[in-house]
Amino acid sequence: MTAMTLLDAMTWQGTLHSDGWVEPAGGTAPVRSPATGEEIAQVGVANTEDVTRACARAAAAQRAWAATGYAERAAVLRRAGQLFERHAAEIGDWIVREGGSIPPKAGVETDTAAQECYEAAALASHPLGEIIPSAQPRLSLARRLPVGVVGVIAPFNFPLILATRSVAPALALGNAVVLKPDPRTAVCGGISIARVFEEAGLPDGLLHVLPGGAEVGEALVADPNVRVISFTGSTAAGRKVGEAAARHLKRAHLELGGNSALIVLDDADLDLAVSAGAWGSFLHQGQICMTTGRHLVHESLSERYVERLAEKANHLPVGDPAKEQVALGPIIDEHQRDKIHALVTASVDAGARLAAGGTYEGLFYRPTVLTDVTPATPAYAQEVFGPVAPVITFTDQDEAVELARQTEYGLSLGILSRDVMKALALADRIPSGIVHINDQTVSDEAVAPFGGVGASGTGSRFGGSAANVDAFTETQWLTVRGTITRYPF
Ligand code: NAD
Repeated sequence: MTAMTLLDAMTWQGTLHSDGWVEPAGGTAPVRSPATGEEIAQVGVANTEDVTRACARAAAAQRAWAATGYAERAAVLRRAGQLFERHAAEIGDWIVREGGSIPPKAGVETDTAAQECYEAAALASHPLGEIIPSAQPRLSLARRLPVGVVGVIAPFNFPLILATRSVAPALALGNAVVLKPDPRTAVCGGISIARVFEEAGLPDGLLHVLPGGAEVGEALVADPNVRVISFTGSTAAGRKVGEAAARHLKRAHLELGGNSALIVLDDADLDLAVSAGAWGSFLHQGQICMTTGRHLVHESLSERYVERLAEKANHLPVGDPAKEQVALGPIIDEHQRDKIHALVTASVDAGARLAAGGTYEGLFYRPTVLTDVTPATPAYAQEVFGPVAPVITFTDQDEAVELARQTEYGLSLGILSRDVMKALALADRIPSGIVHINDQTVSDEAVAPFGGVGASGTGSRFGGSAANVDAFTETQWLTVRGTITRYPF
């Protein structure tokens, strides 16, 4: 491993495969900083021809990789983890400039990407099967085999983690991977990963990075060489991916949208609750699947909660995170900003009151607090994917449960209370893939089985050895006899 710069070019003319650059059939496109609008790179853009070519090469390379000893596969993953750590500043800088992230969030991404690789390294030697009793004189086993080629489709918001959490375990378990990052974050969510694995010595043909739009994702789902799809993104796109995967009889792991509730009970510490609520709604401009989209606050605290949350929102600095120390950076693009503002405007038109924010300059949206909210308020009822905190009040626990359950989503849930057993009892009544007692809704760790229920996903999980083995292998029933059995005819 050399100490070279990992991302030393401004122009990546190709789509990056682990056996080198290939001239992309789809040409190149500029990558722009959302904070300044400035062109910061040119990247190769894939089209459907590139998908076919990459998947065929991945399938051809995968067989030898699956037969490679676990120590060698683990070593590649360990080196990849070290490279994410060594190049954290450089990759982090791209996450800031390309994704509009504040530096601490970029640091979480590079740390977690390294951790994903270290956990995946251990997965390479994880036991992969069990011995099953048999009524016949034979050895009967259920063993796990790599699926072959895994297609990974990732979004822009946590581009590095949400790609690496599938790429690393899939490779460790003996698969090849074709990754389609969001074209808006193709460098930090795609090329940086390809460069890390190239430097880590991943054998040729096993990892292909194809920046491109929905049509490239659709081609990846349809490609006959791809057996499993790992998709993270919106519920609308996830439904299409799930439908297409079913048509092609392949497995799709879907991690989708959310509208997560934070329940603040009457005995919660108000200052800490406001701090948790602000972090849950405003981190990364609210562009997180687990963002606190609904604040459910007991009526005895709600007035003071709104007042303090609004005060905090009004004082949070918003600006270019590459140039100044800010709490919030830009929204990813105009389309997303307009969607946020339309939901805020519709909420005010429907009778909600702006306690803070509701304004923007360019792509910089002020952290926003809405009060006088009802279950029908648009920014409360729908996923906003922006820095908006709608606050609704409840009078007793039954009402809190009823409100929390009024959503098609079920990704994350936070409950704040001094009485932990009361909070746990409440959690048991609300469907959610993730629950945090005495914390807000945003959290992730490489070792935790991450996933949602309802419209937040199909119940599939990423993270931790059990979930990753389930996601990236398939089961084979294997029996062995010492001699051939004689049958009645
Ligand atoms: P999106 O669904 O528009 O895009 C996500 C990815 O899917 C991109 O790479 C995109 O190019 C691709 N894509 C879009 N349509 C496709 C199709 N028909 N077939 C194949 N690929 C397709 O998502 P977005 O709006 O950019 O991202 C935000 C959404 O992602 C939010 O809803 C958020 O909650 C969700 N999200 C979920 C998780 C999770 O783990 N549950 C994590 C992050 C984001």
